[in-house]
Amino acid sequence: MMVSVHAAVGAGVGARAKRPGAALAAGVISHLLCDLAPHRDYALPIEAPLALAVFLYLVGRYGPRSPQFWGAVGAVLPDAENALVIAGAFPQEKTIFPTHNEAAPWFLGHGRKVRSPLPQIILAALALWLAEKGRAM
Ligand SMILES: [Zn+2]
Repeated sequence: MMVSVHAAVGAGVGARAKRPGAALAAGVISHLLCDLAPHRDYALPIEAPLALAVFLYLVGRYGPRSPQFWGAVGAVLPDAENALVIAGAFPQEKTIFPTHNEAAPWFLGHGRKVRSPLPQIILAALALWLAEKGRAM
């Protein structure tokens, strides 16, 4: 799943948490579920600016202490190992997240590839709406 969509979904589920730690954990779990869904990934030059834009939006809208922000951090955290693999700093076969390493005995699967980004755009919009609904008054 696109990193920016992971961040948006993490913000949406994190908004329901009372504490940043719970939001972080909910974000990590959301990463697992999103990776299992059919999706399309993009190259780093597309993924990085979109993810940055979502994080800048979340910090500006809710602040760096908000459950929305920490949910988003938890949701993108598992892809840090993928970033290290892309950077050549970590071997693919050592990745530990259950949706990242097909050779690992704990591999749960990874969603099939789809052509259109539209389902992910709709999911991100819905998640950002949930993040807004959960906003502290
Ligand atoms: Zn992932």
